Amino acid sequence: MPLTCVRCQKAGEAPPPHRVPFPPAVKEKVLASICASCWREWEDMEIKVINEYRLNFLDPEHRAMLQKACLEFLNVPA
Ligand SMILES: [Zn+2]
Repeated sequence: MPLTCVRCQKAGEAPPPHRVPFPPAVKEKVLASICASCWREWEDMEIKVINEYRLNFLDPEHRAMLQKACLEFLNVPA
């Protein structure tokens, strides 16, 4: 479904849902407001964030940090 991306302000398609590893409410928000190319930019940034902070996906606190960093990067209100 085409959308106007809140980050780049361009019309685009939502990212593939299976690439957005967040709880349903957050995932819906990302899928409704972010285009696929901005999501790809986040995926590159995510690797840097994970390395910089040595985040562990199995740690709920780390997952919450990553989610917050993602929403800030994408300009999506939490
Ligand atoms: Zn965008």
